[in-house]
Amino acid sequence: MKPVPLVIGGQAVGADDAFDVLNPSTATVYARCARADTDHVDRAVAAARDASADWRALPDERRAEFCMQLAELLEANAEALTECIVAETGKPIAGYSGVGARKEIQGAIGWARATAKLALADEILQDEHTARVVLRRKALGVVGSITPWNWPLMIGIWHVLPALRAGNTVVMKPSELAPVASSRFAELAARVLPPGVLNLVNGFGDVGAALALHKDVNKIVFTGSTATGRRIMRAGADNLKRLTLELGGNDAGIVLPDVDVRAIASKLFAACFHNNGQTCAALKRLYVHESVIDALESELAAIADGIRLGDPMHPETDLGPVQNAAQLAIIEDLAADAQTAGGRFLSGGRRLDRPGYFFPPTIVTGLSNGARLVDEEPFGPIVPLVRFGTEDEAIALANDSDSGLGGSVWSKDVERARALGERLECGSVWINGHGGLQPHVPFGGIKQSGFGVTFGVEGLREFTSVQTLRINAG
Ligand code: NDP
Repeated sequence: MKPVPLVIGGQAVGADDAFDVLNPSTATVYARCARADTDHVDRAVAAARDASADWRALPDERRAEFCMQLAELLEANAEALTECIVAETGKPIAGYSGVGARKEIQGAIGWARATAKLALADEILQDEHTARVVLRRKALGVVGSITPWNWPLMIGIWHVLPALRAGNTVVMKPSELAPVASSRFAELAARVLPPGVLNLVNGFGDVGAALALHKDVNKIVFTGSTATGRRIMRAGADNLKRLTLELGGNDAGIVLPDVDVRAIASKLFAACFHNNGQTCAALKRLYVHESVIDALESELAAIADGIRLGDPMHPETDLGPVQNAAQLAIIEDLAADAQTAGGRFLSGGRRLDRPGYFFPPTIVTGLSNGARLVDEEPFGPIVPLVRFGTEDEAIALANDSDSGLGGSVWSKDVERARALGERLECGSVWINGHGGLQPHVPFGGIKQSGFGVTFGVEGLREFTSVQTLRINAG
């Protein structure tokens, strides 16, 4: 099997070493990728640095055109990229509630287009006859993008497009567990972008660490675990790297007593279990009022029973396998702990006896804060339902977490839900929905879920520094 190459300075580059990428639905080798060493990281950063001055000097509209061309490239290669995502992530081609590999590629295209259309205008801070003061946004230089395995290409686009759009050059480092679609994208991009504007190095955590440490990298944009985010922050201290850290979440949803249980059950289920819960802003803890919890348990359990779990290439499959063996082990461990802690399993509970990393959607009730399944982010298809009595109790339980990515409130009384939602300690609040990200709406966490935002003009600003220019009358 020919290894997927690195992309450095516009060229496909091989390496002495290579690593396997598994297909999680069979646990067999799907692809091999060239494995970068620190010399490759240095070469990629040098290529990005060399390309930086010309790229930032281009007229803004020209960079916008390049970004639009990247969107078109994604679109022209959508089918092949979709198959790649299915094979390396196990995400179904269509998926429960339409959230699957096709959605990932369509999302990547949509975000690329939306980002191409963004612009950062100069701001006039003062305009008097004695002086004029202008605030300008300038590119930072070289941006390192480190991405996870759950939505590998879409998150890559979330990082790369605004970085390029704002005038930076980029070195991508995808997760070694799902690097193929991103690598294909970088190869395609090298056909249209000037050499060195977008580079890609594959490898394990040491490659990401070398990028995070590199003195010629001006910013790291990272999506992944809080533990790795902390390492990246430490590594960046020496050259005061700028950071955007989008880390794990343990999003809470609060279900108030006035809901139409049947109407919201499938929406709640989708928010919890799409992509097997392997989404940073999936719903991971459900706090349900005691008057409706029994009814909601029955509805959710019935949906779980009807889920078609299996071959992700089959168009009718709802959920595929968990993406990797380590994640499956975390889920099994949390399920075992929930059992010991007295949790009642309404569905699922143990992995399927078949090749691949299949674990059915699992709903657990009878636990509360303090149980590991409630306190820790499972990042998998297992969700606890927790009973509450009063709104104050629900808010206290929801906010009793180190995470602060997203949260939601579900009620027919939108004003009441909004008032409660505003008390949630998190970066995004949704009423009667959860996790719907949009390219024009900034997204980011607080507390241990990280800092900085992506998307929209706010997100674009994160790839720039401020320069003020005061022009005094001559
Ligand atoms: P990691 O945070 O370990 O990995 C994310 C990315 O960081 C990968 O590209 C990884 O490379 C890279 N990396 C690893 N170590 C370093 C380092 N020292 N310096 C720089 N980059 C590094 O996530 P995992 O994939 O191991 O998943 C672990 C947990 O993270 C999950 O259980 C889940 O809770 C959370 N997670 C959260 C995500 C989110 O969307 N917020 C997405 C994925 C995971 P490599 O893969 O090659 O090691």
